[in-house]
Amino acid sequence: MSTNEPAITVDFIRNIVAKDLAVGKNAGKVVTRFPPEPNGYLHIGHAKSICLNFGIAQENSPGTCHLRFDDTNPEKEDEEYIQAIKDDVKWLGFDWKENLFFASNYFDKLFELAQVLIKNGDAYVCSLSANDIREYRGTLTEPGKNSPDRDRSPAENLDLFLRMRDGEFADGSYTLRAKIDMASPNINMRDPALYRIRRATHHQTGDKWCIYPIYDYTHCISDALEGITHSLCTLEFEDHRPLYDWILDRLEDQLKQHPQQIEFSRLALDFTVVSKRKLIQLVNDNFVAGWDDPRMPTISGLRRRGYTPESIRNFCNRIGITKSPNNVEIGFLEGCLREDLESKALRSMAILKPLKVVIENYPEDKIEPLTAPNHPQNPELGNRTIYMTREVYIDHEDFLEVAPNKKFKRLVAGKEVRLRNSYVIKCEEVIKDSNSGEIVELRCSYDENTLNTNPEGRKVKGVIHWVSATKAVKAEIRLYDRLFKNANPEEGGNFLDNINPNSLTILKDCPIESSLAQAKTGDTFQFERVGYFSKDPDSTDDYPIFNRAVTLRDSWAKILSPRRASR
Ligand code: ATP
Ligand code: MG
Repeated sequence: MSTNEPAITVDFIRNIVAKDLAVGKNAGKVVTRFPPEPNGYLHIGHAKSICLNFGIAQENSPGTCHLRFDDTNPEKEDEEYIQAIKDDVKWLGFDWKENLFFASNYFDKLFELAQVLIKNGDAYVCSLSANDIREYRGTLTEPGKNSPDRDRSPAENLDLFLRMRDGEFADGSYTLRAKIDMASPNINMRDPALYRIRRATHHQTGDKWCIYPIYDYTHCISDALEGITHSLCTLEFEDHRPLYDWILDRLEDQLKQHPQQIEFSRLALDFTVVSKRKLIQLVNDNFVAGWDDPRMPTISGLRRRGYTPESIRNFCNRIGITKSPNNVEIGFLEGCLREDLESKALRSMAILKPLKVVIENYPEDKIEPLTAPNHPQNPELGNRTIYMTREVYIDHEDFLEVAPNKKFKRLVAGKEVRLRNSYVIKCEEVIKDSNSGEIVELRCSYDENTLNTNPEGRKVKGVIHWVSATKAVKAEIRLYDRLFKNANPEEGGNFLDNINPNSLTILKDCPIESSLAQAKTGDTFQFERVGYFSKDPDSTDDYPIFNRAVTLRDSWAKILSPRRASR
């Protein structure tokens, strides 16, 4: 891990862990787990949980953190997701070592333990339909009603449960339920289901099972079997904790560990949805190009966009862990990326809106190699060669016929400006399209005595970026914006109604420095004065594609102004 990462902030969970260690609880060990359901790709919210779980294990050597797939819902799960989740956790910089598990590894054990519950009168087979179960459950203000099957004998329950497993009954005809309390103020304790019949092929166990354990039953037992000491989850599981503890208490004799469940608040980012169900919709309905579309808040989307693992870890560390709502501005995430790339990203030049400049006193066929530093503050990052030629491109936005005010330090008709890492040029003539009146070319002169030195007797303040027209490579540049128009994408009820129709702008044939032709997929550069850009995997050998990871400054205020619409 890089050394410039800020120190870990101590939070209430880390305090609990430290206290437990101090009193020698759990034999002085810390074992955590990250338990994704393989039903989608990981998103930035998961990164928070990953950094917390793996982070606590790392900080408390010899702590371990398990990667466990919570795979009890075969119909929604897929091998593709399993691979993507592993890749993302690794890319974020964490290592589960030999501790890769699947809840499905425990299906036999879970089945055996269910029989213990049945024999002890703690579980029963219920024949109510899903609808009836819902009706019998009661409401927040009314107690539920007992199932007519609640008092079946353990022997009868056992027989039915085995026959459920053997495939004698139709899907949904029976469930195994915990026998707790239909009048409990906590609805999760009103005889929750533990097993259901579902004829579905499982990605790990194939067709071995036609009954599958419910998440709440599976999770606590998986934690206990793996010797997890602290089971960290998000706040929506707070009301499930009594059930977590109830099951483990009933199986005390069979299990070696009773992990402590601790809840923290979920991360929510403005202008973003972080729910796999919604992200799946964006993918399936083609609002984005896939799970790794650079506009997606998925780890793979952020990676493709140009995010670094360090920037995401820093972000997760800084937002902290609490029980209060964790709504974070997306600008904060972007700031963490800028901060990380500022010192790391090699500099380069690219022109998003090209304007041709012909330097009339520069020799026609001359190609002059010039040396440019890869990083202005860090000589260790070396130099690159750029080429000066008679024809260059500058950005349209760096030229105006008349300066609007003194702050405009770019090129103006009749005035001088420096080409970065090169000479000072002067605009001699502005060529316009005879029909539209648009500026199409500038005729300039250069001062040959100004290569990286100030001209004699006059000050040239402005420096603009440029690219040789002769040597430039042409690239596609993809500019991304917020995927949603509203800070709260749910505003008005349906997040799909708030999609920003201008979240992607594609610029074709942008001239970029020839040195960028060698860039590898995923390499990220600062295009000077423009932003940070990462090479996209859609690039071909002949036609590179760069994604804008983030602008140099937070330009959201400007983005909101109508001027931008004409970009
Ligand atoms: P989603 O609603 O996106 O499907 P989930 O909680 O169902 O999320 P899981 O795969 O079950 O997704 O999550 C794995 C772990 O990541 C869980 O411990 C969960 O609490 C945690 N997690 C998921 N979303 C967030 C979030 N937004 N912030 C913090 N932790 C999260
Ligand atoms: Mg879940």
